[in-house]
Amino acid sequence: MEKYDLIIIGAGPGGYEAAIDAAKTYKMKVALIENRQLGGTCLNRGCIPTKTLLHTAALYHEIKAHGEELGLTGTDGDGFDLEKIQERKNAVLDQLRGGIAMLMKTNKVTVYNGTGTVLDKGRVRVELTDGGTEELEGTNIMIATGSVPSLPPIPGADQEGVVTSDQMLEWNRPLNSLLIVGGGVIGCEFASVFSSLGVKVTIVEALDRIIANMDKEIGQNLKMLMKRVKGIDVHTKSTVTEIRKSEDGMVCCFTEKDKPMEVTADLILISIGRRAYTEGLFSEESSKEIRTMKMEKGRILVDSHFRTSVPGIYAIGDVIGGIQLAHVATAEGRSAVAAMNGAEPPVDMNTIPSCIYTNPEIASVGISAEHAKAQGIEIVSQKYPMGGNGKSILSLQKRGFIKVIADAGTHKILGAQMMCARATDMISQFSQAIVSGLTLEDMAKTIYPHPTFSEGIGEALK
Ligand code: FAD
Repeated sequence: MEKYDLIIIGAGPGGYEAAIDAAKTYKMKVALIENRQLGGTCLNRGCIPTKTLLHTAALYHEIKAHGEELGLTGTDGDGFDLEKIQERKNAVLDQLRGGIAMLMKTNKVTVYNGTGTVLDKGRVRVELTDGGTEELEGTNIMIATGSVPSLPPIPGADQEGVVTSDQMLEWNRPLNSLLIVGGGVIGCEFASVFSSLGVKVTIVEALDRIIANMDKEIGQNLKMLMKRVKGIDVHTKSTVTEIRKSEDGMVCCFTEKDKPMEVTADLILISIGRRAYTEGLFSEESSKEIRTMKMEKGRILVDSHFRTSVPGIYAIGDVIGGIQLAHVATAEGRSAVAAMNGAEPPVDMNTIPSCIYTNPEIASVGISAEHAKAQGIEIVSQKYPMGGNGKSILSLQKRGFIKVIADAGTHKILGAQMMCARATDMISQFSQAIVSGLTLEDMAKTIYPHPTFSEGIGEALK
């Protein structure tokens, strides 16, 4: 039986980054088990494929909408080849998977292709994809098995013509209309991709606004821009009651503020969230302690050091619920490895940036004015509209704003919300300011190069 210091089940951004950290920083002997592809949801069915499609779709939309204004003649953007777009996306994924495989090799992490089942403390069986089984022994085990799309118990949601993000990312046939159930981050990103490609998009959201986890002003602005710029119809406070097939396509029946409504589309995408994935992780052969590991609503429960109820077994990433983001899974994995080695977490788990890759991009970190008010925190809130920023004007991206929230007394930065071009790249400046305890005045000492979008940060700090 092969012996390891750490056995990790699941090679998503939580698992594979933890493997690198354990091997490199703590010189641990690591096994990494994966039953699909290296990179997990993030690389294969999440972050990277969506952003690759978004990039292509945004270029197409930009040229089609503004080609003439920019003086780019002969670029009426009359067509695109969805199959080729998908081929290019797949090439990006291939390249990045190759990069992870190389990193595993460089760091001497042993990768097992197969399904890992926890049999007992320190014992994992791998059902190898190519046949056969192997049993591994490990001082520590880390469960990083991620999540899968949730499907609602809506009559008709399980028929052909209704897809999840997994199938949507592979879509390569012509589409005239798309209805998206769920106006969260994933739903809005798909709305952005397909509306940019000329598809008529409708969003049906149960809550009173889209991207409800973000600052209210951002949700309202996004809804308005989606309608005005891309012609996307957004129905909020709307509950889907049934999905059925008709001669014209898929019919989504919902009640909007108690009024019965129906919208027909070629395809319906369900994006109402994701559930923790633990299938195959435990078996009848697993010990009683493993089978009775503490869980709640399908997710594995952990303490602040990511320890499960079974000593020596840790769980991180989407499988423990919480904020289901790739960089959160990575931070949790690295923190769990540190905990195994009696070290402090290498990152500040309280400062987590969130990004949405719509056009304009959206990013936030720390608290919003709304949250501060709810918590009774006295704040100063400063906002700069990007309409006055040179780089935004020259690149036709002048919509949006940068908002910074600071403590009213100390001026310490508490949060920032951005809705503008490159917001997802620029938000890290505010994350760094929060983690380092900087004030408005500290940040304002920085010289921002001209012409850049980041000059907007300098303006917001004044
Ligand atoms: P996963 O990435 O889900 O990896 C778990 C891996 O474990 C999988 O490969 C799975 O096959 C494997 N596995 C499961 N069970 C076993 C077993 N028993 N044995 C062996 N292997 C097993 N997050 C962001 O931060 N930014 C984004 O822009 C973003 N965009 C997204 C877009 C979409 C469409 C989706 C669906 C998600 C997106 N996310 C994004 C979320 C992000 O992908 C997840 O939060 C992240 O992948 C979670 O990482 P993880 O390591 O916990 O699990």
